[in-house]
Amino acid sequence: MLRRVMLAVSASDRIQEIVTTAPVARDVVTRFVAGATQDDALRVTDQLLGRGLLVSLDHLGEHTTDPEQAAAAADEYIGLLARLAAAGHTRRGAAEVSVKPTAVGLGLSEHGEKTARENIARICMAARSAGTTVTLDMEEHDRVDAVLRLLGDLRADFPDLGCVIQSYLRRSEADCVALATAGSRVRLCKGAYGAPEDVAFTAKREVDLGYVRCLRSLFDGRGYPMLATHDPRLIEIASAQAILAGRGVDTFEYQMLYGIRPAEQRRLAATGARVRVYVPYGSDWYGYLTRRLAERPANLAFFLRSLASRR
Ligand SMILES: Cc1cc2nc3c(=O)[nH]c(=O)nc-3n(C[C@H](O)[C@H](O)[C@H](O)COP(=O)(O)OP(=O)(O)OC[C@H]3O[C@@H](n4cnc5c(N)ncnc54)[C@H](O)[C@@H]3O)c2cc1C
Repeated sequence: MLRRVMLAVSASDRIQEIVTTAPVARDVVTRFVAGATQDDALRVTDQLLGRGLLVSLDHLGEHTTDPEQAAAAADEYIGLLARLAAAGHTRRGAAEVSVKPTAVGLGLSEHGEKTARENIARICMAARSAGTTVTLDMEEHDRVDAVLRLLGDLRADFPDLGCVIQSYLRRSEADCVALATAGSRVRLCKGAYGAPEDVAFTAKREVDLGYVRCLRSLFDGRGYPMLATHDPRLIEIASAQAILAGRGVDTFEYQMLYGIRPAEQRRLAATGARVRVYVPYGSDWYGYLTRRLAERPANLAFFLRSLASRR
């Protein structure tokens, strides 16, 4: 129920205006977002790499409505990748980038798929020059086919292009089986968007069971699974499943969001596991933040407390 309300809030322009102009919002944002600029992204990357963690950087922004804006989003990543490489942060893929297909044009009313493909190809070229990789985020359920088409097309030239699969979608187990091929990088998460019951599991237990089925398919295949969850039970199951599948620690990784369970991120890394932190930066943080608040009442309580404490 709370999740549905928060997802509706994320779509409300009026609420967005109120929240983004409230001075106190800043404290909450800095818990989950590195900052507004590339300098902030580089600073946080440097800190996390120094703690033995890996990083995936996301330039905030989604649902771009014009081609120039989509090209500018791609240019932002290209500039960022050059700076990461110059700082030595992309060595052995330590820092990579995550891209939302609608930020680079997928949702445009005309030639959306073509525009997104061209922009993602440009980002992949820059990532290749920098010595690192790109992962495509997954957004609303009705875009999955288009994103998987983009992935299939682009992997011919960029075989290390990764993608996200969301365990709340009924189709995802089959997608994981199809994607579990040699060299294929698949980030498995639960899914952060609303979706109707005919395409998505709505009960948490079903989403979690779906996650376990998907992770088994990925571990049994020949690709590189990236297990994106903060859920202690699923992390435990993944560790056990990796052993059962005879997976070495360098053949998969755990991933978590910046600001969420940082102690667990460090604990896992200290066991020798590869742990990557997804770090968003940029000024367009509203949609990202409301999805985080929708996931967890404690996050919402933190937000409301910080509003109240400044009054
Ligand atoms: C690297 C990464 C990339 C992602 N990319 C996408 C994407 O492309 N598309 C998409 O739809 N979604 C994406 N997500 C979001 C994801 O779908 C989930 O919405 C989000 O990760 C919350 O799900 P969860 O697996 O952590 O489990 P939840 O069911 O939200 O939480 C399970 C348990 O984790 C623990 N936990 C969760 N949050 C906290 C917290 N703040 N503090 C302490 N404990 C906590 C609690 O024990 C909780 O009960 C991504 C997530 C990650 C980590």
